Amino acid sequence: MSHSPSRGAHVRGILLDIEGTTSSIDFVYEVMFPYARSNFSSFLEDHFESESVQSTLPLLAADLGFDSPQALYADCCEQGKSVSPPVAVHQALMGLMDDDVKSTGLKKLQGLVWESGFRNGEMVAHLYPDVAPAIAAWRAEGLDLRIYSSGSIYAQKLFFGHSVAGNLLPQFSGHYDTTIGHKQDPNSYQKIADDWMPAESVLFISDVAQEIDAAADAGMKVLLSDRPGNKPVDNSENYIVIKSFKEVSNFL
Ligand SMILES: [Mg+2]
Repeated sequence: MSHSPSRGAHVRGILLDIEGTTSSIDFVYEVMFPYARSNFSSFLEDHFESESVQSTLPLLAADLGFDSPQALYADCCEQGKSVSPPVAVHQALMGLMDDDVKSTGLKKLQGLVWESGFRNGEMVAHLYPDVAPAIAAWRAEGLDLRIYSSGSIYAQKLFFGHSVAGNLLPQFSGHYDTTIGHKQDPNSYQKIADDWMPAESVLFISDVAQEIDAAADAGMKVLLSDRPGNKPVDNSENYIVIKSFKEVSNFL
């Protein structure tokens, strides 16, 4: 199948993926996740009693099968290690990350550590050099821009609020994450269209062929992003591939 983005209705909105599209996949795996891992301990020591941390602990405990945070702390001590609650939580987080468990509590705590890192300038979100100029040009042309990423909306806002090109958040009119649905499910793109504008007026750009297929099935126009470090796409001849956002103007 071939997806032509030039057919039909005029593009009025651009929906962007992040990893492999606006930004390097490596930044997430080689900067953001390691930053969280190496800063959890000091972050928990400094902020354990804060409401933002305390409110995540019941979620974390539930993800680990405990009725309460207190039960999580007690389990840690029963293993013969009498440790403080922040240390018990740190150990639990390390275990969840080592096992790559999809944990809501872990995700929320990672978000808090990333927030501190972005706010204090220790992390600055990567963008390919063509991204911020293209976003500015699209906005100047009156296009509406939104993000759809598997990273939480909270993390997306931190990311674009603290990028190498400064605060780009005001350029986006909306954000979607997997709470609206899986990125490889056409229904997710239909729900985004229902929330935003007709699917045929939206151009979706992503590096993952299955996401491109799903968006095209929902009626969106699509472009496949090929950035340095992306995984090679099978059957890439079936897609319109761009290497830079400078090429997008050819399809508007
Ligand atoms: Mg991606």
